[in-house]
Amino acid sequence: MRALARTDNGLTYTTDWPEPTVQQGQALLKIKRAGICNTDLELVQGYLDFKGVLGHEFSAEVVSGAPEWVGARVVAEINVACHTCDLCREGVPSQCRHRRTVGIRQHDGGFADRLAVNTSVLHRIPDSVSDDQAVFVEPLAAAFQILEATHISPRDEVILIGAGKLGLLCAQVLALTGARVRAVVRRERPAKLLDSWGIKPMALADLPANRANVVVDCTGSADGFASALGLLRPRGTLVLKSTYHGIPQADLSRVVVDEIKVVGSRCGPFEAALRALEAGHIDTASLIDARYPLDDALTAMQAAAKPGALKVLLDVG
Ligand SMILES: [Zn+2]
Ligand SMILES: [Zn+2]
Repeated sequence: MRALARTDNGLTYTTDWPEPTVQQGQALLKIKRAGICNTDLELVQGYLDFKGVLGHEFSAEVVSGAPEWVGARVVAEINVACHTCDLCREGVPSQCRHRRTVGIRQHDGGFADRLAVNTSVLHRIPDSVSDDQAVFVEPLAAAFQILEATHISPRDEVILIGAGKLGLLCAQVLALTGARVRAVVRRERPAKLLDSWGIKPMALADLPANRANVVVDCTGSADGFASALGLLRPRGTLVLKSTYHGIPQADLSRVVVDEIKVVGSRCGPFEAALRALEAGHIDTASLIDARYPLDDALTAMQAAAKPGALKVLLDVG
């Protein structure tokens, strides 16, 4: 079958990747649409030294496996947990000590014609949610995880930094809380999108220091971390949403003296993301930059790596 994979030879597109073997408790998915995420670009550069088929944002149809799933349109959660370690038993399978992660760690992903996954990670896509929209369920769920990491009051001043692929989903989720949400943005296109959603785009220099209750950093850059810290009021909360290139330098004494909370947040609730899409709360159509057939996956990866690129989709089947 066709697949885009990272192998010993680097990023490789092939038409003779071996068919997945379907084990007990698994379903075979026929991938319909997939999305390229910054994590995919980092994996290509060697992050986690991943080997296998890339892709963790996709919509699919179940073609075989458990009869109750066959024919269903689905999305799949990416963490495949062991269900026996201490964290799994405490109800935190997303932090399972032995987890495999679809398209990221020791598990093939969805940039291929077919993929076998455990049925326990599947969610049905509501009829009114398109295959294109469903590609955004995984990153949108991660955006909703901000609300799991910290409480946001409708009276809060909230600032998002880093209005890229993930940041633009986070901004829309933050706006649902009723809080005053502003976003630090440099490029014109995301600024226009934010404005169209009622979220004020700002230049960093125009925002007051030490005033925000919550700052969400989606930049993935060391500078972003320092800027985010500078915007927070004493006892404010800094939510980190992107992994960092390198090790951020920042005035951590401020964290101590001003009693600032720093919280990380990663994968989130698929149910909430599906509900928000079904209700029409989230604009995903405006986030799609380009689409390529799977056969042009290498070109698609180049397009996704361009500075300022938003979501690049792969039409798989
Ligand atoms: Zn991702
Ligand atoms: Zn576990």
